[in-house]
Order: sequence, then structure tokens, then C-alpha cells
Amino acid sequence: MKFIFSHTRRLLKLLGFSIISLILLFFLLNWIFPLPDQIEYSTIITDNKGDVIHAFLTRDQQWRMKTELNEISPLLRKTIIAKEDKYFYYHPGVNPFSLGKAFLRNIFYGRRLSGASTITMQVARAMEPKRRTYWNKLVEIFRSIQLERKFSKDEILQLYLNLVPYGGNIEGVKSASLLYFKKGPDHLSLAEITALAIIPNRPSSLVIGKNNDKIVEERNKWLKKFSHEKLFTEKEIQDALSESLTASRGTVPNFVPHLAYKLKKQGGDIIKTNIELNTQMKIEKLVADHSKELRLKNIHNAAVMVIDNTTHKIIAYIGSSDFRDTIDAGQVNGAAAIRQPGSTLKPLLYGLCIDKGLLTPKRVITDVEVNYQGYAPENYDKKFNGYVTMEYALEHSLNIPAVKSLHALGKDNLIQKLSTCNFKQIRKDQIKLGLSMILGGCGTTLEEMTGLYSVFANEGNYIQPAYLQFEHPGIPKRIISPAATFMINEILSKINRPDFPLNWGSTVHMPRIAWKTGTSYGRRDAWSIGYNRHYTVGVWVGNFSATGVPELSGANVATPLLFKIFNTIDYDADEEWFRQPEDCGLRIVCSETGLPPGDYCNNRVTDYFIPMVSSAKKCDNMQEIMVSADEKISYCKTCMPENGYKKKIYKIISPEMQRYFEENGIAYQKIPVHNPACEKVFKEGAPLVISPSNGNEYLINKNKPEPLQLRCNTGNDVAKVYWYINNKFYKAADANSRQFFIPDEGPIKISCTDDKGRNRDIWIKVRYVNL
Ligand SMILES: [Zn+2]
Ligand SMILES: [Zn+2]
Repeated sequence: MKFIFSHTRRLLKLLGFSIISLILLFFLLNWIFPLPDQIEYSTIITDNKGDVIHAFLTRDQQWRMKTELNEISPLLRKTIIAKEDKYFYYHPGVNPFSLGKAFLRNIFYGRRLSGASTITMQVARAMEPKRRTYWNKLVEIFRSIQLERKFSKDEILQLYLNLVPYGGNIEGVKSASLLYFKKGPDHLSLAEITALAIIPNRPSSLVIGKNNDKIVEERNKWLKKFSHEKLFTEKEIQDALSESLTASRGTVPNFVPHLAYKLKKQGGDIIKTNIELNTQMKIEKLVADHSKELRLKNIHNAAVMVIDNTTHKIIAYIGSSDFRDTIDAGQVNGAAAIRQPGSTLKPLLYGLCIDKGLLTPKRVITDVEVNYQGYAPENYDKKFNGYVTMEYALEHSLNIPAVKSLHALGKDNLIQKLSTCNFKQIRKDQIKLGLSMILGGCGTTLEEMTGLYSVFANEGNYIQPAYLQFEHPGIPKRIISPAATFMINEILSKINRPDFPLNWGSTVHMPRIAWKTGTSYGRRDAWSIGYNRHYTVGVWVGNFSATGVPELSGANVATPLLFKIFNTIDYDADEEWFRQPEDCGLRIVCSETGLPPGDYCNNRVTDYFIPMVSSAKKCDNMQEIMVSADEKISYCKTCMPENGYKKKIYKIISPEMQRYFEENGIAYQKIPVHNPACEKVFKEGAPLVISPSNGNEYLINKNKPEPLQLRCNTGNDVAKVYWYINNKFYKAADANSRQFFIPDEGPIKISCTDDKGRNRDIWIKVRYVNL
């Protein structure tokens, strides 16, 4: 008795010792051989509904898509567990009973080890495929225990469903259901699930599309077994048994290729976009048809992006008209490419100028020749328009008023706002950029431009447009005031304007939109970006090869596509337009300056303005001047005679406008010459030398020296000027005339004195070179 007792105790001790040793051994091995659970999945791109719209092969050329937990339907789970591993939720990774049974069977029948694999063990095998030996079976058991320790049962089932082979290069139930049944795993029927479930047993002889009869036969055997086990209702089984199998292997969807490649770089197994596939496909068709027409004009590429203005989501994205087109570099993503923006930054500029109080829609700007340190911008048609309002300048996309406005605003103010709107290249080039940036002398992308224009649809706030679902919408950033935004929207939504596309029919059925076109230097890029309350649509048309084409202009090749897109996605939408915000007022202004009328202003119009912001300076365009009875001489307060004079109203015309009138043969009322006997020395109003440009260096061709031009702007009352080169008298000339001289090498002082004795000096440097 005592012997037996001590024997049992010793046995128990031994058993306890063995168990502790085994546990310690497990932890040691677990530490040395961690679970190789870094699985590479196919990157999949989904649309706003969660459907796969694009997918990429893994590096080992497999379709191995990750099934999400919510895609594992109760039906799928139940069927797989019933077929593969009934006790899945109860065993610790290995099922000792069936393992023991299989072991004995193997010994008695001398067969190779088979069966008895739990779902967990199958996961272990799929992670590290190995030959079937006793040793490898032990490794598999070890791995299974590791898996159970690390993951929940549902996660293990998910891993199983992700890794199970379905023949060819198809792995996982998601890839299989997509390729064979063109739907997600959560939409599979009992018959489909059962058919898929038997394939992993014999993937090479049970191929969907080739051996469907055999698969149905095998499927029905399992369905009957399920019926026997009362897993499903008799109706469910009968429906499944009678379901035919017509599936065959299809292809993986490959929509939105440019966006798919762009987002893949950011990583992730499942990239959930906001793309509305239906809208995307409609626009793709429009872009393809439009590109076909343009090909005849030697224009080969186009890109489009659409933002939903209420959700700030990017719902359509087209990088080129045809991704598969290898001749015209269809793989290039035109929406992300850096291109010159032409005139498309002008609306933002004018909006900023309104907020600075510099401009309102009716403010008058002079569109005449200017020169900023040697930079002399020209208009598109090489003509000058004299007096223009800001709204006219924007509608007609005039260049000189834009450059002048940017000069007045300061380019850093514009750059800072563009940086806030995520303009990357502009932020990078900040220091290099000059006034020409407002005419397109900078680098932008369609993505950036479309995001910028959504500001106008959002009361002047920038909210970064979202590619991805659940992306944090970002804090709205104030770019321009609601009032300035409203004024720009009113101007850009006018139909009657020069950049309305030729040959475009009626606008009756078109939704109301605001839009702006742009054409880059050398006619390489055509832009048209439009918006209303619902959408912001950006269109770029051009050649990836950067070839310029004479027919290329924003109005004629980009705007028609923009209109077609709005007609398609926003047809018959409600006509609700942007409302005038509270910070935007109306006032009467003088139509000749756009300022509140002065005492002598006769022509008045109404204009929008921002109280306390817009300039409240009274118009002094018309002034009372004292002149002699014969109106030949004008007087100032110091030189007016005691009698024999009269008062007359004159329009004050700036020197640059006088020049413009003279050069264009336009008659204007001149203020009589100032009293020659006037003693007052004019401190102000010395001539402004506009050529050559003060401080510049001029290179002169040694072999063929070209003369430099002498030009100046003078006061209203100046008739003659006197030019001096290095303090030596050179020439007397009419105030508005152009004179020429060939300079010597070195630093040169140029002086210009007017007939009132007012003088201006400038300095330039001249270098003779072989050009
Ligand atoms: Zn006035
Ligand atoms: Zn005087």
C-alpha cells in the first residue's frame, strides 16, 4: 500500500516536472523561433461603397487579398467550421483526440500522416509550407500553439480564410469570391461557399470554370452531409443543391489606375477611397471621347479631378485618357504632374486684393505698358486696354492688371496663401518666384488647383480634399473672406465673356457654374476649373511631351470637357447659388475709378464692397483747376493772379495714361501748361524713367551693338524733357517720345529733367559681350 502510494507520488512529481519543462521549453522556443506572421497581402483599392475597384499582385505574384472581419458572414463562418474543424472554438490549436486517432491509423495502415489538421494547423502550414513528415508535424503543432496564444479564434479563422489556396495564384476567400463570383465574400450563397470550400482539398483537379460538374457533385455530397447533421434548414439545403455553377475565372477590377498607383505608395493592405465608381466611369468615358477629338489637333492628354463640395471628398480622379495607351504615355498621372498654371491663379489674387482693401469689382486699374525691374508683361493679344475695372480684367484675364495687383499685394502674400492650400512646388520655389507667377510662371498640379478652387465653393475656406474614407477632414483654413469669395463667384459665373468656348451650343440646360480658364506659355497646358455648390471640377488638357499646339487654349479645349462633366454629374440639379454673405455690402461708386464719388463725379454705379475694409477714399478724379481766361495757362495757389482767371473742372489723367492716349491717338482734355512765371519749385512729380530700368545690367552685342531706349513718364503739364548721359547733355525731346542711344561700357548715370526743372537720376551697368 505504502509502496503504491509513494510510486504514484513519484509519478505525479515526474508528470508535474515534465509539464513545467514542456511549458518552459515552449517559451524558450517561442523566443528563439517567433511566429512568422508577417504576411504580404495584395494591395486592394475600394470605392466609397467598399467594393474592390483595383488590386495589385503580391511580390510573389499571388492574388492574396485580405478579408476583413466584417466580411466573414455568419454563413461563411458556419460552413467553413462545419467542413474543416467542428471543434475549432473548443480546442487549443490542436485537437488531441483526432491527432491521436490519426497517429494510430497511420501506424496500423502504414500510410503517411494525413488528416487531423485543425484550422489553426492549416494556418501554420500555409504560413510555412513544408513536406509532410513527423518532424514537420511537430513544428506545425508548435506553431499552432503560438498562433492560439497570439490571436483570437476569429482572427485565426480570418487568417485561414486569407491564406487558403484556391488554385492557380488565387489565395484566400476574398480573392476567390472576387475572381470567380465577382462579389465580396460576405455576399456568397451557401452553394458558392461550399463549392469554394472543397477546392483547397484538390486545387489542381477541381478548377472552377473547367471541372464545374465534378465540383457540383462533390459540393452536393457535402451539402447532404450538412443536411444529415441538421446544420441548415431543409429549404436552405434544397436551394443550394439546385443552384447551378456557371462561374469561371474572371479578372481583377482595374479602375482608377493612376490613383491606385499613387495611393499604393503610401502603403496598406486595403485602401478605402471616396471614389464614386459610377461617376468615375461616366467621366472616364467623357475624357476618352473628348481626347479622341483632340487627337486630330495633335493634343494627346487630359486629366480630371472632382471634389464633392459638401463632403470635401475626391469622388473622381482621371490621370490620363487611357492608362493602357503606351504611345501617348497613358501611365503618366496628369493630375499629379507639375505644370504651368497659366491664368488660373488670378481669381485668388483678386480675392486677396479685395480683402486688403485694394480692389472691389468696379475699381479701375490701368492696363498700359509697365516695367518692373526689366519685367514687362504683355496681354494675351499683345494689346493694352487703358482703363479697365477689376471685374473686366478678371473676365478677360488681362495680364497687366494682374501683375500690377500682385505688385501691390506683394507676392509673398499670395505664396503664403498657396502654401496653406498645400501647393508644394510653389512652397519649394518661394524665393525664386517673381511677379510672373501670376501669369503662370510657377509649377502647380491639377490636384492642387482643384483643391484651391474648392475654396471658392466653401466661403473662402480651404479644407484639404480627402482621397480616403475616414480621413480626418482637417480644420478649415481661412484663405479669403466670404465677401471676397462671393464677389469672385459673381464674376466667374457670368456667361457672356470672351473665354466662353466657341461652338458651344445653348446653356439653357446647364447647371450654373463659376469657372476660370488658363493657357500656359507656349500653349502647352490648357486649364478649366469650375465649381458650384455641389462640385469642384478641375480639367487639364495638353501633352505630356510638353509639345505646344497652336489650337490649345483653356477656353476651347478644356472648358468644353468641363461643361460636359457638369452636364453629366449635375444635370437638373437645384439651381441654388451662393448667397451674398453678411460681410458684403453694396455702395455707389464713381464709375471712372470705382471709389466713392467726389464732388464732381457724374457717372455712378453700384458696387460690392466690404465695410471697414474696402478703400473709402473719395474719388478725386475730377478737380477744379484755376486757368487763364483763354484757358492757355493754369495756376496754382502761389502763382494765381489777383483777377483774370477762372475755375474749370478737369479730369486728372496719370502720366502713364497720357502716354497711352498719345500712342493710341485718343484725344483727351489736357490741363493747360502751368504758369511759366510760377516761382514754386516742384519737389514732386519729377519724370519717371521707365527705360532703361534703374539698377539693371545691360549686355550689348560687341559685333552688332543695339541702342538702348530712353523713355519716361512725366506730369500732366510737361511738354519737353532733357536727357543727360553721365552728366553730359544728350538731347531735348518731347515728353512722351522714345529716344535711343548706344551706351559705352561700364556704369552709366542717366538723368532726365523736365521743362519745370524737376530732375531724376538713374544708374545702369553696361557690358559688351560676344552674343
Ligand atoms: Zn470720380
Ligand atoms: Zn504755380
